[in-house]
Amino acid sequence: MKIGFIGLGVMGKPMSSNLLRAGYHLVVLDLSKASMDDLVALGAERAETPQEVAERCDIIITMLPNSPQVREVILGHKGILKGIRSGSVLIDMSSIAPLVSRELAKTLLVHGVDMLDAPVSGGEPKAIDGTLTVMVGGPKIIFNRCLPIFSAMSSSAVHVGDIGAGNITKLANQIIVALNIAAISEALVLATKAGVDPESVFEAIRGGLAGSTALEAKAPMIMDRNFQPGFRIDLHIKDLNNVLDTAHELGVPIPLTASVMEILQSLKVDGLGNNDHGAVIRYYEKMSLVEVKRPIAK
Ligand code: NAD
Repeated sequence: MKIGFIGLGVMGKPMSSNLLRAGYHLVVLDLSKASMDDLVALGAERAETPQEVAERCDIIITMLPNSPQVREVILGHKGILKGIRSGSVLIDMSSIAPLVSRELAKTLLVHGVDMLDAPVSGGEPKAIDGTLTVMVGGPKIIFNRCLPIFSAMSSSAVHVGDIGAGNITKLANQIIVALNIAAISEALVLATKAGVDPESVFEAIRGGLAGSTALEAKAPMIMDRNFQPGFRIDLHIKDLNNVLDTAHELGVPIPLTASVMEILQSLKVDGLGNNDHGAVIRYYEKMSLVEVKRPIAK
C-alpha cells in the first residue's frame, strides 16, 4: 500500500516522517522543494502534481492551510480528482470549514472515493512525538481501516460522526481554547494590577475548578514572556473565521467567540500575528498598563 502525503509544513513534515518511520511507503508533494527534499532523504518518493500522487497511491492524506487550498488540490488543474481511482481513500487532516469537507466528500463519492475529515490537535511538538489527537468524521468502516495510519501519528484517534464531524469537533476545540486563553489573560492582568504575584495566583488556583490544560500550557509561557509559537494568532484567526461562518450558516449566535476574534484581530493589526496565541495577554496588558511576569528573584 502506498500513501500520498500533500502538505509538508510545520505539521505535515513531522507527521509524514512518522509514517515513514512506521514502515509506510510514501509519495510526497509540497510547493516547497526543500520540504520535499527532506522527506525524500528519509525514503519518500517525490511527485510533481496532486494528480500524480492520486495515480500512484491508494490512500491520500492532505495537510494544507485551509479550505481554498484543499479544494484547489482536490478539484483544481492536475488535481487529485483527475488521477484518483475508485476504491481509494482521501484523508484530509487540515483544519477547514466542515461544510467544505461535506461538499468535497460528495464529489469524491461520485468517483467511488471515500473521504475522512481528520483534523488534529496538539501542535508541532506532538506532531514530532507522534502523540497528536485526531478527530475523525466519515464512514466508520473506513475509519477502522485507517486506524493503523492514525496510530502512527497520534496517541488518540476518535471517530466522532459522519463527514464534517471531525472539523465541527475541531471548531468546538478552538472555541474552548480561545475563550480559555482570554479568561486566563483577564484574570492574570487583574491580579498583577492589584499587586498580587501572578505566579502565586497560578499555584493557588491550578488544582481547583479554574485549572485547565490551557492554564497549564499558557500561564508559564506568559510569565516567562515567551510568545514563540506554538500556535500562531494568524492560524487561530483562520479557525475562528471558520467557526463564525459555520455557526452563522447553521443559525448559532456565538457572542463570546466573536469578542475574542476582535481581540485577535487587534493583535494582528499590532503586528503580532506570528506570536503564539498566548499573546492575547498583550491586548489586556496594553489596556491596563501592566506586564504579567514572574517576580524578580531576591
Ligand atoms: P503550514 O503553513 O506550515 O503548512 C502548509 C503546507 O502546505 C506548506 O508547506 C505549503 O507549502 C503547503 N501547500 C500549500 N498549498 C499547497 C498546494 N497547492 N500544493 C502543495 N502544497 C501546498 O501549516 P501547518 O502549521 O502545517 O498547518 C496545517 C493545518 O494543520 C492547518 O489547517 C492548521 O490549522 C492545522 N493545525 C496546525 C497546528 C499548528 O500548531 N501549526 C496545530 C493543529 C492543526
